[in-house]
Amino acid sequence: MEKGVFLTEEVEPPGIRCDFAVPENSINFYSTTYLRYQEKPAINWPSKTRTTPAFKCNKKTKTFRKFFYPGVSNQEWNDWRWQLKNRIKNLFQLERFFSLSENELKTLSFRRSLLPLSITPYYASLLDGTDQLQPLRRTVVPDIAEHFHGHGESEDPLGEEKDTPVPGLVHRYPDRVLFLVTDTCSNYCRYCTRSRMVGNENSNQFNFFNWQKAIAYIESQPTVRDVLLSGGDPLTLSDEKLEWLLSRLRRIPHIEFLRIGTKVPVVLPHRITPALTRILKRYHPLWMSIHFTHPEELTSEVGQACERLANAGIPLGSQTVLLKNINDNIEVMKKLFTGLLRIRVRPYYLYQCDPIFGSEHFRTPVKKGIEIIKGLRGFITGYAVPTYVIDAPGGGGKIPLLPESVCGQDGDNVLLKNYKGETFSYPDHKEEKKPARTDSTLWQ
Ligand code: SF4
Repeated sequence: MEKGVFLTEEVEPPGIRCDFAVPENSINFYSTTYLRYQEKPAINWPSKTRTTPAFKCNKKTKTFRKFFYPGVSNQEWNDWRWQLKNRIKNLFQLERFFSLSENELKTLSFRRSLLPLSITPYYASLLDGTDQLQPLRRTVVPDIAEHFHGHGESEDPLGEEKDTPVPGLVHRYPDRVLFLVTDTCSNYCRYCTRSRMVGNENSNQFNFFNWQKAIAYIESQPTVRDVLLSGGDPLTLSDEKLEWLLSRLRRIPHIEFLRIGTKVPVVLPHRITPALTRILKRYHPLWMSIHFTHPEELTSEVGQACERLANAGIPLGSQTVLLKNINDNIEVMKKLFTGLLRIRVRPYYLYQCDPIFGSEHFRTPVKKGIEIIKGLRGFITGYAVPTYVIDAPGGGGKIPLLPESVCGQDGDNVLLKNYKGETFSYPDHKEEKKPARTDSTLWQ
């Protein structure tokens, strides 16, 4: 770097150390990068620093905050720990903010639901107080239909359990693994593929010893080149836990890159602090897949969170689940995917909703997804068109679904259909059987 040129970074004091107890003999698990970070001389922070970075509050959230949280300071509202602590988790709390329909009331009064209710105050500010059919509200507020089991539905539709060699680790494809590091999310999506295992926040399943077992397994598999951290949501972990995991995985010689799957930048953008991005950028190449559902999620806070991640050099991709009466509409998808490009997120996958128990009311016919891709391709830039996939039930992996574009053959020409449905002919390359060239013929 040119002498005298410095990169600027927002000023933020170091985070509060968490109570995550790392066993004494595990200190050698820390990467040299992490140790270098620990050994850095103490920084003299300016006396007037913010304890949490400020986010520009969008208009809807501002109004909501004024009405429901008048006594909450900016500092508290922008603190992701405050947001987590004050999540809306039961009928009584929900009633304070929303007028509930009979259906919602009945569902919430049920003793046992498969998936708990959890909504951050920030995300609640984007929900409609009276309209139970508002798309965002339907993704987080339980519906009575969750209790009905439809055709072909199951608890583990992707057959992940059978590809789990050690607790919390799914090894399906030869060169990559899915590492489920927590069962906690800031919000619980009602259509979650892993609803069988997320939301049990008091379980001890995702503990340090199981992490070590998973890491030992990854070390024993030299064909694995990438690890996707998921859960639950890995960004609900403290900075210290997350850094321990990243640094530990980074020390495995055959791991070429890491990925994080998360919804936190959308439902809890305040988690994307400068301290977190400083940690993440120590472990490049690191990629992130962010779960977006609807254009109403693209607020100024979310834009700012994605900007911080992108400025930290993290390539951002999106994953969206196709959901009935929520986003199964060409115009809604156009708005979402082009909006994502504006905040530097590349639409990556559009998923057909997995047939988990009680998902009938969320699932669309497959032809709807193809119709949406047809309505996007050619009409907006290819960068904004994700791959539409079905994660095959039983563990078959992701299968892409494409609208038919090759429509026949005319002699040596291939007939193709463009986005307007017009037919074009492409002179196909004929494979001729020529004798192999030798070194001497090459120069003739
Ligand atoms: S954030 Fe992801 S893991 Fe958590 S509930 Fe939603 S879909 Fe499931």
